[in-house]
Amino acid sequence: MAINTIYVTSVKKHQMDEIGFKISDDKDIIEKYLTDESSIIKGYADSVYYPYTEAHVNKIVRDANENKVRVTVSGGGTGITGSRVPLGGVVVSTEYMTQISTIGEDNWIEYREGGYTYVIKIGWDEEENTYYAVAPPGITLQTLDNILATRKLLYPPDPTEKMAFLGGTVATNASGSRSYYYGSTREYIRRLRIVLPTGETLDIKRGEYIIRNRVFRIESKIYGSIEIKLPKLKIPNVRKNAAGYYIKDNMDLIDLFIGSEGTLGVFTEIEVRLIPRPNIVIPLYIMFQSNEDSIDFVREMRMFEFKNVSNVHVLSLEYYDRYSVDFIRLRYGSIIPDDTSSIIYMEMDGDDEEILIEALQEIDDIIDYYRSNKVLASFDVDWIKLSSEIRHALPTGVNEFVRRHGTRKVATDIAVPDESFDEMLEYYRIIGDETGVQYVLFGHIGDNHLHFNFLPRDDNELKKAYTGYSKLLLKAVELGGTVSAEHGVGKKKCIVDGDEVPLLELMYGKDGLIELAKLKHSFDPNHILNIGNIIPEDYLEGI
Ligand SMILES: Cc1cc2nc3c(=O)[nH]c(=O)nc-3n(C[C@H](O)[C@H](O)[C@H](O)COP(=O)(O)OP(=O)(O)OC[C@H]3O[C@@H](n4cnc5c(N)ncnc54)[C@H](O)[C@@H]3O)c2cc1C
Repeated sequence: MAINTIYVTSVKKHQMDEIGFKISDDKDIIEKYLTDESSIIKGYADSVYYPYTEAHVNKIVRDANENKVRVTVSGGGTGITGSRVPLGGVVVSTEYMTQISTIGEDNWIEYREGGYTYVIKIGWDEEENTYYAVAPPGITLQTLDNILATRKLLYPPDPTEKMAFLGGTVATNASGSRSYYYGSTREYIRRLRIVLPTGETLDIKRGEYIIRNRVFRIESKIYGSIEIKLPKLKIPNVRKNAAGYYIKDNMDLIDLFIGSEGTLGVFTEIEVRLIPRPNIVIPLYIMFQSNEDSIDFVREMRMFEFKNVSNVHVLSLEYYDRYSVDFIRLRYGSIIPDDTSSIIYMEMDGDDEEILIEALQEIDDIIDYYRSNKVLASFDVDWIKLSSEIRHALPTGVNEFVRRHGTRKVATDIAVPDESFDEMLEYYRIIGDETGVQYVLFGHIGDNHLHFNFLPRDDNELKKAYTGYSKLLLKAVELGGTVSAEHGVGKKKCIVDGDEVPLLELMYGKDGLIELAKLKHSFDPNHILNIGNIIPEDYLEGI
């Protein structure tokens, strides 16, 4: 039996003696870290720690482990599953972790923005034929993009919310509309430095540690040899998945940490693959009278290959149902024909305008064939700005709607395999009719990943929405899908037969979750790190 062994990097004494970090016990400051963008749960904590070096994190986590104090890591707080919300102990905010420390002699860049100084490194890997960046966990995606834009480089993962920290997006394996072409965060992570729940550091480079037979070993000078076994679970075969740990036969160890929602370690340095920035991206709104036509159009576009142009890609394929269109219409009614039932939003990149015009001509016949009633597309900068505002009209309208009714939206993040998408689509309609609660259905149709948002107007409808929500999740699982394609599961639960059930239990059952709890326990024997995420607290008790 092949067992892979990885050695932890010991913390050097002089690093421990570095200047200290800020700690706050101020209630008003702590309060800011007790929710995230979801507001699904309100947490509690004694203090907030603000490390700015890896050595600080080593010390904080090691002390917490020795004293059995809980630690919850906070990134940008833009998560929508309650995953950065603490359930006691201390919060470790990564907002001052804006500079990498292993920069070496050259290629590092200092950049100032918003009162912070960022230090990152950008390099070219001759062997892999790619650009890469080494970046700290506390850099926002917006700042990283600002730095890369000046060098005509791109870090493709884009979960819409640019204030998310790089560390948070790796912890949730974030993705977004352009993941249709680019894939999710996982595909861009080359190396991670991780502080384990025992306070020691691992440095993992993609390709260096392949786990054979689902068993490996971590060798630590302090804690000895720890054997880690991966459960025999089968993760769903979908285009996107962010629900629970990534576990497969012969997998790369780095993938276990990506998407682990901070439960297995704290990322202190992240090396990502970069690609050349596209010269031009054109956004298109393709409107349809018939919903079926819009779905068939997507099906055809997924198989479509450009014949007369090269280096043109369809980056995203997004869907808006008729109720979503109604919300967009509230602000942009004049540009949407009355008989529009659904809209497909598409982005294409290319080397120049001429090539993209040729590419548009190639797909023109398909657009006509499916009887589109209007197409909006232009290279004009005002249009590009407007097209992004049109897309934002939906979430803004939805949020205003639920706020006005004093309720909350109840939203799915389901993705299903290709062959099950039609059935899921029909089931969305059935549940929408059955609950009678207003809803919108929209999102990443190219990846079979739509967001069904119930918009309840009162408590009675909210109850119905929760029932419908659980039914949708169960259906997705029955079809071999995932309960979360991009947000992660965090501390989310649903109601099944009157009982609160953690989301992941729907996919793996109680036995599966016990296996995952054992995996977490082997990394975190004192159960201190990011408790409540992925595995609910009670599953860890008694292990
Ligand atoms: C308007 C809006 C739109 C969104 N759209 C999308 C979308 O399209 N796709 C998508 O994927 N998400 C989307 N999100 C959700 C959110 O932006 C992502 O989940 C993002 O990855 C969270 O990053 P963050 O830094 O804010 O993390 P936080 O919310 O602070 O934390 C998220 C998780 O990461 C952990 N974490 C943070 N930093 C570290 C670290 N250094 N080491 C280990 N663990 C860490 C936290 O403990 C927590 O478990 C959206 C959110 C909003 C508000």
